[in-house]
Amino acid sequence: MSFCADTITIKEVMNCHSGLPVKTQDLIDSLTYDELIQFRSSLKRGIVNKAPLYVCSICGSHVYLNCRKEERKFHFAHKKHANCPYDNGHNLTDRQILAMQYNGAKESLAHKNMKELLIDALSNDASFGNIESEIVVKGFDGEWRKPDVKAKYCDKLIAFEIQLSTTFLSVIVERREFYLKNNALIFWIFNDFDPKNTKMTQEDIFYNNNGNVFIIDNKTVEKSKEKQAFHVRCMWMKNKGEPQKVEWGASIVAFTDLTLDLKKQRAFYFDLESNDISTKKERARHEFLEWYEKETRGKSGYEISENFGVEFREWIAKFREYGIDIPQKVDDRIIGILLSAKKGYPIGFDFKKIIEIAHLIFNAKNSILKPYLGIFGWAINHYHGKDYLINQDESGKWRQKLNNIRESLKNNKDFSHNKQYDELITFLFPELAGILEKMNTLNTDIK
Ligand SMILES: [Zn+2]
Repeated sequence: MSFCADTITIKEVMNCHSGLPVKTQDLIDSLTYDELIQFRSSLKRGIVNKAPLYVCSICGSHVYLNCRKEERKFHFAHKKHANCPYDNGHNLTDRQILAMQYNGAKESLAHKNMKELLIDALSNDASFGNIESEIVVKGFDGEWRKPDVKAKYCDKLIAFEIQLSTTFLSVIVERREFYLKNNALIFWIFNDFDPKNTKMTQEDIFYNNNGNVFIIDNKTVEKSKEKQAFHVRCMWMKNKGEPQKVEWGASIVAFTDLTLDLKKQRAFYFDLESNDISTKKERARHEFLEWYEKETRGKSGYEISENFGVEFREWIAKFREYGIDIPQKVDDRIIGILLSAKKGYPIGFDFKKIIEIAHLIFNAKNSILKPYLGIFGWAINHYHGKDYLINQDESGKWRQKLNNIRESLKNNKDFSHNKQYDELITFLFPELAGILEKMNTLNTDIK
């Protein structure tokens, strides 16, 4: 049978030792009658000794266990606390309760210990001044926050917040905004972190912190003392992705070795954003296409710089390192026709209009470009709509050829799409990936 009262006001309490919340009904149900009677005493003793075992999840007040004698049913209670919605009889949504648990969790022993460790570590470092705990920081517009610990570092205010199991997104976000507005930096600290088993609230923090996580423990405090400089344990994602799937780096690092980015409210040891492979690839794509346009736009063959060939091969070698499958010999004009289609002006050809490229590909004796007339046409449709070439066709020559072109694309082997550049095209023009896929599965023709 359950010894929990039918009507309870305090629905959730927090274990001060672990910092974890627990439903009062579950807690009472887990104990036998005699255990509950002993538990009543332990709770009271904790309060008397100023080391409470449990506090109200919402307001952080000490709780005790009351028993309604006649029915022998138990419920949690605390001092009438004007600010506790449990006492005011308000019905709170789960979300509201979560938001308020933050106050309760601040009272946990785990949290207090962390604060002490942090202050202990910081006080060894002469570059930190005005180290204070639980002191209000006033904002420009009258708003205020009370960080766990604050300190001055090189004229900057650093607000250290210890991440608690119950910290939740709105708290993280509004704090970030507050410190951003007030030229300070929020610095989240964890007491423990396991990349294989991350909590949502931890992810809310480190994904917005360039994939870096900071931990303080006895080892980092020792190191701070030994070096007379504040050290933290840093763990960082080596690549972007899900925390369980990517590789992580870890090291105890000096605070001076961190990059402090107030604008983005980030502090990091490893710059994931610049080192991530997908970011690198994206940057290479942009830089390459810009370079290619600059080197070749409006230039005939003999006007192109001597170094063009060498530099082009260097770019291709770099793309191969990224694992992109590229044919042994690359004809850069394949890139030229597609970049021209995208931009709406000829690049890699000494022409005025896109339609001149279209004529060249279709008429060329030399058939190297013919297998790419299809993707060229589809790319023009994609970027500019299907009437684009017709609208450029002032002489009417393209219109005259249109049936012939369609027929050729369908039945002339010279024009059948060659897949050898598909990976390179997909890398340089990711927006064309779907079209290539269609071209390779359906017998498509140019519209
Ligand atoms: Zn309360």
